[in-house]
Amino acid sequence: MRNYKKNYSCSFCGKSGVKLWRPPMDVSPLACASCSEQLQVVPTHELVVDLCKEPRLIPAILDEDDNFEDINFASAEDIEQWAFLPTK
Ligand SMILES: [Zn+2]
Repeated sequence: MRNYKKNYSCSFCGKSGVKLWRPPMDVSPLACASCSEQLQVVPTHELVVDLCKEPRLIPAILDEDDNFEDINFASAEDIEQWAFLPTK
C-alpha cells in the first residue's frame, strides 16, 4: 500500500502531504518544491521530468511496497498517485 503520509516528509522543513523529490541516485534527502527553490537546487518550474536530460531531482514516487521507484519503471497508477499530491 502506497503511503504518502508516513515517513514521507521534506528532509529540510519537515513538510508532508506534498510532492517530494529526491536525487536521481539516492533516496535522500527528500525535498519539497519550496525547499528545492529556496536551496536553489532546482526552481519549481524545472521540477518537471525531462527524460531527455539528466535531472538534478526526480519525483520521489513510491511503489506498492512503499519503496522509492524509478519513474521509468513506475506504473501509470504510481505516477498518478504521486501527481495527485499538492505541489506546495
Ligand atoms: Zn521542504
